Amino acid sequence: MSECIFCKIVAGEIPSGKVYEDDEVLAFHDIHPFARVHFLIIPKVHIATLADCTPAHEGLLGRMLLLAPRLAKEQGLDAGFKTLINTGRGGGQEVFHIHVHVFGGGDPVPRT
Ligand code: 5GP
Ligand code: ZN
Repeated sequence: MSECIFCKIVAGEIPSGKVYEDDEVLAFHDIHPFARVHFLIIPKVHIATLADCTPAHEGLLGRMLLLAPRLAKEQGLDAGFKTLINTGRGGGQEVFHIHVHVFGGGDPVPRT
């Protein structure tokens, strides 16, 4: 069984505040939000980091990125939002299942 926490969320073994789901992608609220709204977009398949992606993942990555503005709007981030992908330990990545952070709103203004 996978020890990856985000794979466990995909499998429904760990609860999450789901924002969106389709056959390939899941989005859910970050457990420690940086801003009033902060959610993560992840692929259902386990890919550790952006640096592990290949041309075969082009469509999946595009799908994840295109979801960011749509879901941000649905979450009320009409004034805009930030996106962030941490890659590897040196990039500040803590969970090694690729994810796009989408966050915004509230005070203080997100710095990252
Ligand atoms: P990273 O530093 O890897 O880019 O970010 C990982 C993010 O995942 C962090 O913002 C952290 O708060 C979030 N996170 C870690 N564990 C969980 C969890 O079990 N549930 C949810 N919803 N978010 C998590
Ligand atoms: Zn995983």
